[in-house]
Amino acid sequence: MRLILLGPPGAGKGTQAGRLVNAHGIVQLSTGDMLRAAVAAESEVGLKVKDVLTRGDLVSDELICSIISDRIDQPDCSNGFILDGFPRTIAQADALGELLEAKGMKLDAVVQLEVDEGILLERIETRARESAEVRSDDNADALKKRLAVYNEQTAPLIAYYGERNMLKTVDGMKAVDEVAAEIDSILCAV
Ligand code: AMP
Repeated sequence: MRLILLGPPGAGKGTQAGRLVNAHGIVQLSTGDMLRAAVAAESEVGLKVKDVLTRGDLVSDELICSIISDRIDQPDCSNGFILDGFPRTIAQADALGELLEAKGMKLDAVVQLEVDEGILLERIETRARESAEVRSDDNADALKKRLAVYNEQTAPLIAYYGERNMLKTVDGMKAVDEVAAEIDSILCAV
């Protein structure tokens, strides 16, 4: 099973991806986690992206696509994977399509977690208060910036995958268990 979880910051992608990992024995590929790990390790990539992450901007399509391409080649991805936080631009979606085709792989579904932006902003404020020390980009201003970047660069992927008949939309405002049940029923049908 190979799927994309699509939705703005705070929509619950990470929570749902973590659950799917346990339920379906597939790996979660969170580009945000990978980049934060690189920053923490002060690797070459980490030093390059540190300020971009803190600002809430996107790192280059080229860099993130090469990271994902390499990661998908790892043996633990052979059973399937959940892309969490990737693709985030139309260029990344095009590149993903090409690289999967080159690897002889196919996406099973794109699951969009749909959320109310007003309520999301409240969640963002709460999350910023709770996790300011965990993530340097989890202060309210950076999160609002990330939401604006999502609306501008990532939201067009909803139409992109819709046109390709791959998009499944779930109400992300429901309780975590209800969202999980909706995702499971979608995945049963693909
Ligand atoms: P996330 O944890 O998915 O919200 O990602 C945290 C940050 O990592 C983002 O605000 C971006 O700076 C960067 N990032 C993660 N995934 C991508 C991506 N697919 N393309 C560009 N930048 C990304």
